[in-house]
Parts: sequence; structure tokens; C-alpha cells
Amino acid sequence: MHELHLMAQVVKAVETKLGETVDGKLSAVRLKVSALSHLLAHDQSALQTAFMLAAGGTKAEGATLELISVPSDAWCPQCRRDISVTQSEEACSVCGGPFVVGSIEPEVVIHELVVNR
Ligand SMILES: [Zn+2]
Ligand SMILES: [Zn+2]
Repeated sequence: MHELHLMAQVVKAVETKLGETVDGKLSAVRLKVSALSHLLAHDQSALQTAFMLAAGGTKAEGATLELISVPSDAWCPQCRRDISVTQSEEACSVCGGPFVVGSIEPEVVIHELVVNR
């Protein structure tokens, strides 16, 4: 049950991004989530509930959470090429061998904040 901890970090990032100057109501938070991210293994409705709890009393209160899965970069040592992993695959789609996750980019990036003014 660490969803709440994860979502608390998201809410913090959202508040930072919104800054002090925004008025209007935040209606949606869109997150880009790496296809290999552990976050996608979670139940979406559990994440939404955790987000609502974490957002209570903050600028993100009442906003809905949307997760957008984006491909991850990986490297297949058998094929000797870069591959793009779109789901939680555990093997290279060409040779079926294990791949190496190459990038160290953050798993979750705030893609868009939708504000109703
Ligand atoms: Zn987890
Ligand atoms: Zn391969």
C-alpha cells in the first residue's frame, strides 16, 4: 500500500508546477508513465483513490488522474540494437531474449495539467 506515498510525490510535483500564480481549478493531471514502470502494475482505481487522498487540501484537490503509458528505451544484447518496449514485456520481441533497460529517465513525468479558469 505505497500508492499513497507515490501519489503524494505526484501531488507535490503538481503543486510545484502550478506555482503560486495559477487561479482556476485543476481538473485533470496527466502523467506520462514509462511502460516499464512499476506504477502500471497497480490497479488504476486504487491509484485514483490514493491520488484523491493525497490531493486533499492541496491545489490538486478534486482533479482526476490520467496515466499515459509511453514506450521505454531498452537495448537487446542479442540483436545488438535499441528496442522500444511498449508494455511490461520481459523479453525482446524479435529474438525473445532478455533486454537491458537503458535509460535512467524518471519513471513518471507530468505531461499536462488541465486547469479550468
Ligand atoms: Zn507499487
Ligand atoms: Zn532481441
